[in-house]
Amino acid sequence: MRYSQYFLPTLKETPADAEVISHQLMLRSGMIRKVAAGIYSYLPFGLRSLRKMEQIIREEMDRAGAIECLMPMANPAELWQESGRWEKYGKELLRFKDRKSADFCMGPTHEEVITDIIRNTVSSYRQLPLNLYQIQTKFRDEIRPRFGLMRGREFVMKDAYSFDLDDDGADSSYAKMYQAYRNIFNRCGLNFRSVEADSGAIGGSFSHEFMVLAESGEDGIVSCNGCEYAANVEKAELIYGDIVTPTATLELQKVDTPEQKSIEEVAEFLQLSPQQLVKTLIVQTSDDEVLAVLLRGDHELNMIKLTNLLDVDWVLMAEEDVVKRVTGAPTGFAGPIGLKVRILADAEVQGMADFVVGGNAVDVHFSGANQGRDFEISQFADLRQAMAGDPCPRCDSGKFESWRGIEVGHIFKLGIKYSEAMNATVLDAQGKTQPLVMGCYGIGAGRTVAAAIEQNHDENGMILPMPLAPFQVLVTMLNPKDDQVREAAEKLYQQLLALNIETLLDDRDERPGIKFKDADLIGIPLRVTVGARNLKEGNVELKIRKSGVTSMFSLDEMTPQLQQLVAEGLAFELEK
Ligand code: ATP
Ligand code: MG
Repeated sequence: MRYSQYFLPTLKETPADAEVISHQLMLRSGMIRKVAAGIYSYLPFGLRSLRKMEQIIREEMDRAGAIECLMPMANPAELWQESGRWEKYGKELLRFKDRKSADFCMGPTHEEVITDIIRNTVSSYRQLPLNLYQIQTKFRDEIRPRFGLMRGREFVMKDAYSFDLDDDGADSSYAKMYQAYRNIFNRCGLNFRSVEADSGAIGGSFSHEFMVLAESGEDGIVSCNGCEYAANVEKAELIYGDIVTPTATLELQKVDTPEQKSIEEVAEFLQLSPQQLVKTLIVQTSDDEVLAVLLRGDHELNMIKLTNLLDVDWVLMAEEDVVKRVTGAPTGFAGPIGLKVRILADAEVQGMADFVVGGNAVDVHFSGANQGRDFEISQFADLRQAMAGDPCPRCDSGKFESWRGIEVGHIFKLGIKYSEAMNATVLDAQGKTQPLVMGCYGIGAGRTVAAAIEQNHDENGMILPMPLAPFQVLVTMLNPKDDQVREAAEKLYQQLLALNIETLLDDRDERPGIKFKDADLIGIPLRVTVGARNLKEGNVELKIRKSGVTSMFSLDEMTPQLQQLVAEGLAFELEK
């Protein structure tokens, strides 16, 4: 590709509304442009990376025995009503009517459509197992679309669905996908972890997320330093052992805490550590119940654990007016004493006595508070978020380390949730009707490219790994008006094209400074500079974008050198 004829509209300035680096760099390097909130066009340079991502996914899915298909974006409401998700999915499901006033939605995921296909085509266990996948545009009307491709409303996803006769079969389909996902993200050259995850709204029995490690990641993950256990903090289990509640030694006392709002402020004001405080959160559920949840001062509530414990659709922090009605005070001063609602507490609170709690009045706390004596807790449970330093639930000696991650893939064992609701069954070897056991497996293609940039960049631009880079080699001719330079660069370019090496030839009539700045920004992994001075000695310069290392080769040596570096950059070993 010749730069002078290509469409690569780079930007000098960082766009004001782009918060994370991948979003900034994708806009600046002319990969994408915004159309509306969470809706983007892929320009040619960005599309090349997306297509590479898709191709890696496709090859590994095919290798694992999955078969590609393509389902429609527009889904009829009937299918979603059958599964029960038409009501349940909420506002993320974009609904619309066609000209006959029939209800439709834009598919945010495709369990319903695929289950409908399978129930109408598969009737015998002999046709199983089956795993069908597609790479397709999804629409989710996200409440807060942000970070460019990372959290869009319209985005490209690979979604796969497996169908088996029984649980063992489904487990084996799941294991194949788990391995395929590890291969995919290894092939992309990404530093990632596969972690245990909550199976959430999609439902199902177990699940793993694939997380690209990056500081800007929206997810917290913990991994054990002593064994293989790794989990999303939403999911990470904690061990509590036998907890004995210590006896109360202090009297309950009202203390004034003027203008001390946060746990840290109150603790410092009372010359205590946050561990000696208990915070009270007022929450409300989809069942219209209002509850109080107690946690040690330095702990964070895990909404997912709470939602699962209560077996409700959702739990939210209570609105201001609800907090006022229940506690008599604005948000931030709640305490358990005198509350008329059900009180739950994290298990860790069970081992505490003589602590400080909110006083249900502005700037008031109680010290010397004790459960049982001053208020009743109706249930203790694992309700908090795991943190670095917590003991591992799987091995004796390990402790958690914590990381930030970007969820690029998610696999679920669904079980029979959808096949039961939609009556998708087969006859087994005994002629008995059995519901199909399903799994579903997603990868965000655009999000993975963005995550790759999040993990691979410097202050000058992106440094995409070779397998995802739009081009493998950039040949910069420093002065296209110099015949020798132009001829040498053209020769190299033609040789590379003949070897199927994806090459961008910067033949623009621009100053070298501008060419180098663009080269850094667009981050093509291998960069050859053809300039008059080096050419006098018959040489051209190679620069590795990632390391910044430069070296000199003769014009003839350069092509085999690049060929080898490209091959090394694409090489990967299949995990067993
Ligand atoms: P998240 O927790 O980030 O909202 P999710 O758990 O809802 O994602 P899944 O339903 O598991 O997402 O979707 C499978 C994959 O699709 C995700 O792992 C992610 O890579 C991608 N994905 C999901 N939502 C988006 C989005 N809004 N924009 C881009 N990619 C997305
Ligand atoms: Mg997910």
